[in-house]
Amino acid sequence: MARVLIVGAGLTGSLCAALLRKEVSSLRYLAVWDKAGDSGGRMTTASSPHNPQCTADLGAQYITCTPHYAKKHQTFYDELLAHGILKLLTSPIEGMMMKEGDCNFVAPQGVSSIIKHYLKESGAEVCFRQCVTQINLRNDKWEVIRETGSPEQFDLVVLTMPVPQILQLQGDIVNLISEYQRQQLESVSYSSRYALGLFYEAGTKIDVPWAGQYITSNPCIRFVSIDNKKRNIESSEIGPSLVIHTTVPFGVAYLEHSIEDVQELIFQHLENILPGLPQPVATKCLKWRHSQVTNAAANCPGQMTLHLKPFLACGGDGFTQSNFDGCITSALCVLEALKNHL
Ligand SMILES: Cc1cc2nc3c(=O)[nH]c(=O)nc-3n(C[C@H](O)[C@H](O)[C@H](O)COP(=O)(O)OP(=O)(O)OC[C@H]3O[C@@H](n4cnc5c(N)ncnc54)[C@H](O)[C@@H]3O)c2cc1C
Repeated sequence: MARVLIVGAGLTGSLCAALLRKEVSSLRYLAVWDKAGDSGGRMTTASSPHNPQCTADLGAQYITCTPHYAKKHQTFYDELLAHGILKLLTSPIEGMMMKEGDCNFVAPQGVSSIIKHYLKESGAEVCFRQCVTQINLRNDKWEVIRETGSPEQFDLVVLTMPVPQILQLQGDIVNLISEYQRQQLESVSYSSRYALGLFYEAGTKIDVPWAGQYITSNPCIRFVSIDNKKRNIESSEIGPSLVIHTTVPFGVAYLEHSIEDVQELIFQHLENILPGLPQPVATKCLKWRHSQVTNAAANCPGQMTLHLKPFLACGGDGFTQSNFDGCITSALCVLEALKNHL
């Protein structure tokens, strides 16, 4: 197998890349392309422009491991724990729903360090600001067209972006998706929400007894976290960071509003939850149009194979569930489908 492209440098894409490298010996060239400027996808970690060590997880917050997946995905957990990439969540998160036997992990260096670990393991050439727009079949190869840059050819392509973004792709792929597959893909739905990161100067005190709190009494804010405290990396030299997630109804209602307006509204509501907060030195507001999967693809075992020769498949949490184990399941299913085809 000569040239392989994985589209999406989120958890599913980075895992697919690492698994492919480990398990497929005939792999010659492996590339991962992402339209964003950094890896992580919805497991992104933002940094303060004033201090790159002052960071905030703006998407996924912690990894919940159930007894079932502790066994099933043990090697994945063991590896990340052995590298110190995951640590037990020990700080209090008020209002968190815990089931018996579950345990929670955080990533001290930010949740995107999980993705960076897998990308490094994969040895892939990782290219950012590469937005794929078209996929065409040319002489038994995939010709992949991006917004800027010349088209490139690959023998095998795996798409890991949220399903609505797969459905936006143009070119031959439009006709390669069967009517039944299109219906399955169109049935995948996501919630929407905003995330706001606030970065503070070193020495700033945010005096609350918790590291995170689920809010049930505010129409705008669902979750607040003192992110560095949640990750147990409080230090006198690095300022604290705060993460705010909005409720889904707020996210949906303000989906097409400007980020500036939404940020202002979140600030106003935050004043009711944490009155008199100090002024942050920097802020970062993100819109998660496709936040968490509310309806995964029906009758679909973790991936969807769109074409066999050459191989084209899609994976991601849209085919399983929106969490760490959902992405592992999907990446393993992509690998299985691909190995069956080789
Ligand atoms: C606010 C929020 C909170 C969450 N909380 C948790 C949590 O606490 N615990 C948990 O386990 N999970 C949580 N999740 C879910 C978890 O983050 C996702 O399930 C997981 O990150 C999905 O990974 P993925 O690789 O499948 O998709 P993504 O992370 O979305 O990766 C897809 C990548 O594809 C790229 N892309 C899209 N279109 C194109 C294109 N045309 N060309 C090139 N690249 C493209 C995107 O830039 C992105 O990087 C949360 C998610 C959100 C948004």
